[in-house]
Amino acid sequence: MSNYNFKYHPDPLKTGIFKNDKTVKCECCGKETDVYYDGPFYTTGNEKVFCPECIASGAAAEKFNGEFQDSESVDEVSDPAKLDELVLRTPGYCGWQQEYWLAHCDDYCAFLGYPNWDDLVEMGIDKEIEETYREDICGVDIDEPHKKKKNECCYLFKCLHCGKHFAYIDFD
Ligand SMILES: [Zn+2]
Ligand SMILES: [Zn+2]
Repeated sequence: MSNYNFKYHPDPLKTGIFKNDKTVKCECCGKETDVYYDGPFYTTGNEKVFCPECIASGAAAEKFNGEFQDSESVDEVSDPAKLDELVLRTPGYCGWQQEYWLAHCDDYCAFLGYPNWDDLVEMGIDKEIEETYREDICGVDIDEPHKKKKNECCYLFKCLHCGKHFAYIDFD
């Protein structure tokens, strides 16, 4: 496919934030693209349909002075270049409420998608998620009744360095 590689969002077509159902015109470079971004973009304008290249190069963020992830809703890491790469050159994801991006090992984690609890069990990482779950960020206790609610969705992240999985959970 195209020549992009988002380390913090490795498979944006699989997570659905990139769509390939039609050909559209990128609002940044003006070229037709059959893979386009369909996610959050924090800017004062209305532009939000971009080709992957304009996200990867930072062109869209620069041209419209926007961010794909709110830089206030992220964990802190020591290297500001990593924050730039995350909010200016990485496709965001769609949360129910405010998206939050987790970090671990002093770097941002890769966003893997939107599994429900049954998916986590199937993937064999439910115990790991219970251990790494951060109530301080999510604001809720991860208890049985919540887990059993099938419509609950979590945002799954994986540390690029130690490989641990983390979930950010938005409860209604
Ligand atoms: Zn473009
Ligand atoms: Zn780690």
